[in-house]
Amino acid sequence: MANNEDLFKKIIAHAKEYGFIFQSSEIYDGLAAAYDYGQNGVELKNNIRQYWWKAMVQMHENIVGLDAAIFMHPTTWKASGHVDAFNDPMIDNKDSKKRYRADVLVEDHIAKIEGKIAKEITKAKKRFGDAFDEQQFVETNPRVVANMQKIEEIKNRLYPAMDNDDMAAIKQLIEDLAIACPVSGSRNWTDVRQFNLMFSTSMGSTAEGATEIFLRPETAQGIFVNFLNVQKTGRMKIPFGIAQTGKAFRNEIVARQFIFRMREFEQMEMQFFVRPGEEMKWYEYWKEQRMIWHLSMGIPAENYRFHDHDKLAHYANAATDVEFEFPIGFKELEGIHSRTDFDLKAHEEYSGKKLRYHDPELNESYVPYVIETSIGLDRQFLAVLSYAYTEEKLEDGSERVVMKIAPFLAPYKVAVFPLVKKDGLPEKALEIMDGIKSDFMCFYEEKDSIGKRYRRHDAIGTPYCVTVDHQTLEDNTVTIRERDTMKQERVAIDEISRIVTEKLSINK
Ligand code: ATP
Repeated sequence: MANNEDLFKKIIAHAKEYGFIFQSSEIYDGLAAAYDYGQNGVELKNNIRQYWWKAMVQMHENIVGLDAAIFMHPTTWKASGHVDAFNDPMIDNKDSKKRYRADVLVEDHIAKIEGKIAKEITKAKKRFGDAFDEQQFVETNPRVVANMQKIEEIKNRLYPAMDNDDMAAIKQLIEDLAIACPVSGSRNWTDVRQFNLMFSTSMGSTAEGATEIFLRPETAQGIFVNFLNVQKTGRMKIPFGIAQTGKAFRNEIVARQFIFRMREFEQMEMQFFVRPGEEMKWYEYWKEQRMIWHLSMGIPAENYRFHDHDKLAHYANAATDVEFEFPIGFKELEGIHSRTDFDLKAHEEYSGKKLRYHDPELNESYVPYVIETSIGLDRQFLAVLSYAYTEEKLEDGSERVVMKIAPFLAPYKVAVFPLVKKDGLPEKALEIMDGIKSDFMCFYEEKDSIGKRYRRHDAIGTPYCVTVDHQTLEDNTVTIRERDTMKQERVAIDEISRIVTEKLSINK
């Protein structure tokens, strides 16, 4: 799956046509970077969330859940560093009036140079055939060497400027690199300004008495401030974790990639509290565990990669991203961070309350270290959707779009169809559905030909379609059709539940 805009467009159109995702407030021409999950989308999203919860909370004796409020005391965000440092540098092009993240403009420029290097390598590979030694070529080809040097120089200017909040240096870099606006083509830029990504609102009924509060930009801080509440009341022993899913809000400067980057989105986060000094062991453990989780959804390993951070945030001593190959390229899906004792210590300092753990084995009190796993539910949804989207040419020359969603995540598990709308078949079909609908999400449909009904359920990813015909009335058997193979089998009504349950088993 390369960078494939056409495919991305098709997936977005499919998501709308089949009730997965709608633009927010569409009848008013939409609201930028906000999306609504439709009747099928909400089922898929719930299933992904539940699967994460199951893997993190149900499968780990030492992890418990939490559901903290979106609103938090404003000092929380002082302590966490978000008030002072949750900024992105932005720049506007005066001709197109388009706004960009200044660092992304520079990163895109670097990506262009990397593209040139990749082209040189491909060309040379063709020219030299089997004798090609890529490393030697990269180290000696003058054009490649010069371009590599260019990239190094740009990074050596960009990163320190970002670290030091030196907006003038970033502007100078954009000018020196002669970066033009992709829309207007002009280099007529404003100055670079810091832009805080937190949304704020006021709480309180009178203007004078109101306090400015923030919509949380991450769920993690709700976990940190409840660390002792959960530890004490749950009698948790280190190492232990607290998991939470919920909405987060960021006023992203550029948000144009469907549900990949939204201003309101959902996170699934887990903070794992460990003994200081043992964090690297747990960091490695969670890297492995999280990758197992990703692969268990039936998406092959080549679609994932780790991207270890060379440049660490000031509070982290190790960090990696799980990247997924979206149709827009490999991009961050999840972050795994070793956050030291930064957050708990900061909350101790700002609140004046001790957030320590008494370790009975060491007979010592300390502020625990934290390994965090943080995944965007919407991005995971997009990963599932993009991998599942399959266009197939069938033997009879016709085509179908089938969503090959792992059956346990699919919005509906079984669709039940009467072959025709008469002769008692609808009644029989509804009776069958009544027998299984408390166990699975089922869908009843009697409109259109059976072929059309199959196609509609292929398009939303329903693993099984059950058809009730005249024979059913005689011998209580039905046809059951499997989504991916399209194979049909005649089975007893009593067998449906077992067949579907087997297919849904996660252990498999
Ligand atoms: P990015 O670099 O893409 O902005 P980030 O590094 O700021 O992401 P984190 O703060 O680590 O992201 O948040 C954890 C996860 O939350 C991300 O891996 C991503 O899946 C999700 N996420 C973050 N921002 C957004 C957003 N604007 N829309 C949707 N999901 C998001």
